[in-house]
Amino acid sequence: MQSLTILGATGSIGVSTLDVVARHPDRYRVFALTGQTRVDLLATQCAQFHPEVAVVGSAEAAAQLQALIKRDGLGTEVLFGEQALCEVASSASCDTVMAAIVGAAGLRPSLAAAHAGKKLLLANKEALVISGQLFMDAVASSGAVLLPIDSEHNAIFQCLPIGYQRVPPQHGIRKILLTASGGPFLDRDLASFDSITPEQAVAHPNWSMGRKISVDSATMMNKGLEVIEAHWLFGASAAQIEVVIHPQSVIHSMVAYADGSVLAQLGNPDMRTPIAHALAYPERIDSGVDAIDLARIGQLDFRKPDFLRFPCLQLAFDVLQSGGCAPAVLNAANEIAVQAFLDGRIGFSRIAQLIAETLHRVPSAAVDTLDSLLAQDQVARAQALALLH
Ligand code: NAD
Ligand code: MG
Repeated sequence: MQSLTILGATGSIGVSTLDVVARHPDRYRVFALTGQTRVDLLATQCAQFHPEVAVVGSAEAAAQLQALIKRDGLGTEVLFGEQALCEVASSASCDTVMAAIVGAAGLRPSLAAAHAGKKLLLANKEALVISGQLFMDAVASSGAVLLPIDSEHNAIFQCLPIGYQRVPPQHGIRKILLTASGGPFLDRDLASFDSITPEQAVAHPNWSMGRKISVDSATMMNKGLEVIEAHWLFGASAAQIEVVIHPQSVIHSMVAYADGSVLAQLGNPDMRTPIAHALAYPERIDSGVDAIDLARIGQLDFRKPDFLRFPCLQLAFDVLQSGGCAPAVLNAANEIAVQAFLDGRIGFSRIAQLIAETLHRVPSAAVDTLDSLLAQDQVARAQALALLH
């Protein structure tokens, strides 16, 4: 029996995780569930999965959840705040942590799980983008088992030989081929980019996801963050990571070997597949996802990414080269820009400009401690906000 903490249980990944968990009551029990706001959904999840602890974002939300827990006669303890998130992520009462909070807000809780040596299912890519080496050092020193949930990285993990998941080139890996759908604006007339609405940007052609990652997919910043994520997870240099546009999202990524072999992982675009893979690893369990019907799909297309259409992708490669705090600055500016776009304060094309201007203004310091990284994150946010006015 594995005992789980699900950080971000009320989000898209959290809900998919609970869907898989519900199929295997003999294997998994839930120790803790967390959600920032959607108290009603969290209460429903508590009634179904009976966690020992539930964590919300504020005292007010905690009081609301507490009332619902009492109404339903449940024994779940209700806590709130970042410290509580870190406690449930590192508690001796859980073996496995699904890190599915969105953005930098997930950094400390995800890191707490890494330090505590958990089996760590990482969806919260921003945590790794921000803290890179610190994160991987925490995993290495605690003996945590880090399993990628991002579909591309989970695919790469599956295409690497067991035991060689940190891939120095001497293991015969030539390249990592990171596939990208290209999002909803792959073929849209560039001249009309300024009239893109938030609703159009969050309508991804293949995947149903939270709003922030959906906008990231539309700008292709998501792929940029994933390039940095792949660098840390697999020890690959920027030159060893190639982005390939594949609009159908059937191949989730590939690994090219020195002998000319290219291994790919295929499947329907449904996050329950990588979630089930990581939950059961190294075994395999039912995820509720149908097998792919290749005859119906008919054909798979590939093309090169257009860095002029998607400047965010170039910015991500640039900060990977710069190193230090630059990826944290990029991430912070992106979070501010995406929120401003969703709030109708800036146009779609302004997202990339705002990030570039923030990177230009915030000097990239070297990373030594988590506190210095988070300080840089705050400086970048303040700078990006100032540029909004
Ligand atoms: P979402 O917006 O649907 O859910 C986010 C979750 O985080 C919610 O439970 C929310 O309550 C919680 N949260 C938000 N702000 C918080 C805060 N300040 N403190 C604590 N909790 C907070 O997002 P999602 O689509 O599920 O994505 C979650 C993470 O997984 C992101 O990092 C995303 O990049 C990654 N990811 C998602 C998908 C996908 O298909 N949705 C695929 C790959 C990777
Ligand atoms: Mg992905």
